Amino acid sequence: MTLPGSPRKQVVETYIDGFRTGDHERILGCLTDDVAWEMPPFFSLSGKRAFDEAIDNPATPGLPYIGLTRLVEEGDVVVAEGTVRVALAAGGEIDALFCDVFHFREHKICRLMTYQVDRAGAEQTLKALACSCGHALRRKPRTREEALALGRHQNAIRSLLEEVAVARGKWMSVLRCRLCGRFWAEDSLTSGHMDLFYAYPIATDDPHGWLEDATPLRL
Ligand SMILES: [Zn+2]
Repeated sequence: MTLPGSPRKQVVETYIDGFRTGDHERILGCLTDDVAWEMPPFFSLSGKRAFDEAIDNPATPGLPYIGLTRLVEEGDVVVAEGTVRVALAAGGEIDALFCDVFHFREHKICRLMTYQVDRAGAEQTLKALACSCGHALRRKPRTREEALALGRHQNAIRSLLEEVAVARGKWMSVLRCRLCGRFWAEDSLTSGHMDLFYAYPIATDDPHGWLEDATPLRL
């Protein structure tokens, strides 16, 4: 879509288009390296890498519909008001109104405050985003370093996770969060003489079937 607008409004449109198309590079290209993103009370993060990880949410695997109602600019700030709809992996959808407040440094976004209200009540958004297990903000690791970070995270949330399925031959299991009911796959890294375990979020409603089809990541 093209609205006539200032360069900064155009950056916001590019950013939103990036979310519509699931284009990480396009989104990240709009941000400063030290970007901060806050969506009270769900999350607060900083840095491009953390931002990148938060773009995809296993609870909402498809592309969102985002409607932009207006863009207002004053000083270093552009405010976008709009609507967002996205399907939940567990069934149903988030149907929300949002207001994004973008703070700029030159022509890059350095801070974003997102205020989002679910039209059907907060329950769906809560389900998708807010659990202290961090399911919505973590993802399957691509490197050993990411797996190690997940291992530390798993230690921190150990009391929340209960084992629901085990595949001994694969050294894998599926854990369930006692709070949100979502699942984590437990895998391991072999490091010299010991195995280091880590868990990453998965979207499934059939933990046994998931585990049967799963293969260890072997990072
Ligand atoms: Zn949880």
